[in-house]
Parts: sequence; C-alpha cells; structure tokens
Amino acid sequence: MAGIYIHIPFCRKKCTYCDFHFSTTFESYRKRMISSIIEEVHSRAIELTDERIKTVYFGGGTPSILNALELHQILNTIRNNYKIDENVEITLEANPDDINSDILNTWRQQGINRLSIGVQSFRPNDLEWMNRSHTAEQSVNAVKLAQEQGFHNITIDLIYGLPNMSIKEWEAQLDQAIILNIPHISAYCLTVEPNTELAHLTKSGKIVTPGDHIQSEEFLMLRRKLLEAGFVQYEVSNFGKEGFQSQHNSAYWKNEKYLGIGPSAHSFDGVSRRWNVSNNQRYMSTIETNGDYFYLEILRPIDKFNELLLTGLRTIYGVDKTTLLKEVTPPTSFEEQINKYKLKGWLVEEHQKYLLTTDGLLFADRIASELFLVED
Ligand code: SF4
Repeated sequence: MAGIYIHIPFCRKKCTYCDFHFSTTFESYRKRMISSIIEEVHSRAIELTDERIKTVYFGGGTPSILNALELHQILNTIRNNYKIDENVEITLEANPDDINSDILNTWRQQGINRLSIGVQSFRPNDLEWMNRSHTAEQSVNAVKLAQEQGFHNITIDLIYGLPNMSIKEWEAQLDQAIILNIPHISAYCLTVEPNTELAHLTKSGKIVTPGDHIQSEEFLMLRRKLLEAGFVQYEVSNFGKEGFQSQHNSAYWKNEKYLGIGPSAHSFDGVSRRWNVSNNQRYMSTIETNGDYFYLEILRPIDKFNELLLTGLRTIYGVDKTTLLKEVTPPTSFEEQINKYKLKGWLVEEHQKYLLTTDGLLFADRIASELFLVED
C-alpha cells in the first residue's frame, strides 16, 4: 500500500506565518503547471507498479483553487496509471472562501471523500493579522455546508500559541470547533519561521508571541477538551474520532511509501527520500525537458533510526523496537537515556514498542532529538 501527495503551489494571499512553497501570481502559467503535474503523475507510475494506492492527498498551497477540469485531469491521470484501492481516502485541502454548494458537489462527484478546511482561528482579529483570505463566519458556514452536502470526513486546522489570546479565549475556540461536530482536528502551535512576514512583525515588536509556558498550558487545554469530546490524540497535533484518523498522514508516521508530486513535494520509497525543486519555473521547465527536477538522498541506517524516533514517538503507534534496531546497534548511552525517560514517567515500553506517555508527548521532539544517534 502506498500514498500519493499532490502539491498545488498556488495561493490567493500570503499568510504572514507561512513558509510553505506557493505563489500568489500564478495565473500566467497555471495551465502549464497543471500539465507538468500531470506529466509527473504519469511518468512516476512506474515507481509504484506493485503497490495499491490507499490514499491521495491534495495539499499546498491551496488545492481548492483548482477548477473542476484541472482536478478531474489530475485525478483521471492517477486513476488511469495506478492501482487504486477500492477504499481509497482522497483528501483535498480547502480554504473556507473557496467552498460553495457547486464546488462541493463537484468534489463529491470526483471522489473526494475527505476535506481538510483551513480554519486556523475563529477570532476575526487573528485572521486579519494572519492575512487569511477568509472570515471566521465563512469558516463556520463552509463546515456546515460541507456537512449538509454529505461530507462526513472533515478535518479543520487550528493554531494555538497566538498573540493576545487568553487561555479562556483558546477554550472558547475549542468549544466552537467541538460544536461543529467534526470528526477530526489538527492543532498546531504558532511557529515563527525565518523569512516570513511574522518573523518581521515579531522582530519589530508589532506582534508579541506568548512564552513556552502559555503554549504548554494551551496544549494541555487542547488535549483535555478534545479527549473529553471523544477524540483520540493519535499524533501530537492530530485528534480524530474513532474511524476518522487521517490514513494519509498515519502512513507517513508509520514509514510507508509515498510519492510526492509537484514543486517542493517530498517522496519516500523505504530506501531513499527525494524532494522536488521548490521553484515553479524550474519545476515546469525541467519536467518539459526531461531534466532532473528533484534531489535524492539515500538513507543511511543511522538516518532511518533517527527518523523512526522522530515520527514514531509523536504518535500512539510508537516506535517498533525490532524495526528500529534492525540495522543499528546503539551505544549503551541510548538505553540509559531511555531508562531516564521511563523514570520520569515520559516513556513506556509495551509489546516491543517505545511509546511516550501523555506527559512525554509534551516534549516529543526534544526526547526524540536527545535519543538521536550521531555518526562518529
Ligand atoms: S493559504 Fe496555506 S499555503 Fe497558502 S499562504 Fe496561507 S497557510 Fe500558506
């Protein structure tokens, strides 16, 4: 089983905090980009001839910018060139301002069965400084409309750790999300990425982000509220009701194979990672001339070891010891460190797996990096 990720590098506006790959001035080459993406989908089918495709994920960027024909052309190329599992999960990321009855109908007809709606915040002031292209009201209406049109598998993105947000206000945001009765929520802590507008705004003091202790308090509130509402925290930032956990993202975390199509998209085949150029013009011109539009890294045993820890410890699936230790024998300091976390109550060992406890999940990335092996 494998997954396909399609990166649509178009956005209407540039959100202040975003460091993903996208362009807001794409109309002049829009058609060419879609042709290049289709060409890549077509040419890489050979990499997954023996695999059934169990997930397709349209991410970005803003995939909901695609019109019906563009989406149809891409999906058709996938269906005609890959073995698609009959229960395939097809996710489309959509911004609330792109959602209306007609397009929802089109998406359903084309087989989209999971919507990821980029809500980010229900507070109008936040959406303003984030430079989002939609209002809070549009977000609520978009979710309701999608539900009315028969989309049951809906997830929304929320951001916490926001400037000028009290814990009570964060609680109110979560209440708003819970009332919408959606089965999945992804919640990320605001991160100030270098070279973003947000980095500039925080540097100049126009925006002040809260400290670590407030972000931790909000994370704990997030978890408490969503667990009480019947969600399972299956990854640090991801909460799903039974049967609604993202199959696509879970496959990443379980180290399964996936193809990444489109500029900046990453791929993994169990042996190597490759990533496409993060430049729309270069991507299109190299695809058109059969050139190399990607970089490739063959994973060393030590890389696989560290990646398994980084992804597995963030999830309820944990890290399988047999897989982890298949190609690497770590030094005794690794086991000492593991024991230290067990004593702190951050990590447990069950059924030959390392798993973080709820306390440990707060420090998942730190714990993983402290367990990393470095080459002598
Ligand atoms: S819409 Fe999404 S991808 Fe585009 S700028 Fe905003 S956060 Fe980034």
